Amino acid sequence: MIYLDNNATTRIAPEVAEAMLPYLTKFFGNPSSAHALGREMKQAVENARQEVAELIGAADASEVVFTSCGSESDNWAINGALATQPEKKHIVTTQVEHEAVRNLCQQLETQGYEVSWIGVNSEGELDMEGLRQALRDDTAIVSVMLANNETGVLFPISEIGQLVRERTNALFHVDGVQAVGKLPIDLKSWQVDLFALSGHKFHAPQGIGALYMRRGVDLPSFIVGGKQEDGRRAGTSAVPGIVGLGAASRLARLEDDHDTVLDLRNLLEDSILNEIPNARLNGPADRSKRLPNTSNISFEYVEGQNILTHLDEAGIYVSTGSACHSSSHESSPTLRAMNVPYTAAQGSVRFSVGRYNTEAEIRETLTVLPGIIKKLVDMSPYENELKALYAKRG
Ligand code: PLP
Repeated sequence: MIYLDNNATTRIAPEVAEAMLPYLTKFFGNPSSAHALGREMKQAVENARQEVAELIGAADASEVVFTSCGSESDNWAINGALATQPEKKHIVTTQVEHEAVRNLCQQLETQGYEVSWIGVNSEGELDMEGLRQALRDDTAIVSVMLANNETGVLFPISEIGQLVRERTNALFHVDGVQAVGKLPIDLKSWQVDLFALSGHKFHAPQGIGALYMRRGVDLPSFIVGGKQEDGRRAGTSAVPGIVGLGAASRLARLEDDHDTVLDLRNLLEDSILNEIPNARLNGPADRSKRLPNTSNISFEYVEGQNILTHLDEAGIYVSTGSACHSSSHESSPTLRAMNVPYTAAQGSVRFSVGRYNTEAEIRETLTVLPGIIKKLVDMSPYENELKALYAKRG
């Protein structure tokens, strides 16, 4: 198996599994219990909180609250921000957010909120002037992702944070789910109030996430119940997952794999773009504006789903756009917002590299892929367009 779908989810790191094991076997207490076993669990939770805080550069561990996933963190941030400012009915977000933000904001539009959907240019970069103009006195929350899940495009969070502070009293929420573990993050130095992350994107298990809340930002609990997480999020703490998230945060901080991942991604991307005439990159050619691990490449006039199927048969796992679109034939909203033509958007494949990939795997992919594309090109109904394209680029 060659797994190049690390933006969908990642393998649990052995170090993470090892750290979790005692909490799946020996230690089973409830961290809210007052006895020794409870205290042991509570200590494990607080150690993990410290690790997460260090990874994201929080000023204090108490700014980190554990949740069940990135979607919960995003939902809580937005709904919570609206609940604390009932007089404000305006939201600013972008056209390329993950469903966890986009679908929620669409739902809020039907409930009396006005949403400004900021666009991107053809390379996926945010329209900063559009954002500046959208900010108003009645804006309750600005919600922007740090890194796009499909293209890896990075948004300038520091600059956006400053703009938000200058022009409104809105809370600033950042969906950092795809960035954590892939980039250094220092929330102390950014004007961010709320920041969502998810364990399974950086080698912790699925089902654990966190929401960073800057000190002084107080949101009502998203889940009503007990007083866990200092009264901020009800529900018995998921200690094994929390310990796993802590271990994954430690691993990401101490064993930085960014350069290796970057080299592998670049090898893959350069070779595909150089060798396959109908391949085009979705995103900025300037790689410093993208995550180090992601390449979104369109193979024009062929179906991404067919590429995926053939790669799957060869034991190579990728995604067409975002995994959430895998059963739909519509182009992804992100590629539509970038004005990628339909015939290219339909042929888009997301390759996302991770710390366990090897150069041999990338070379194997580069051996297999051109044959698949050639086969699909030969079957494509867009014969004339492809001939012209191959004559030009081939
Ligand atoms: N935000 C982004 C940018 C994502 O890529 C994802 C997952 O793909 C999420 C939020 C949702 O995270 P989770 O799967 O943990 O709910």
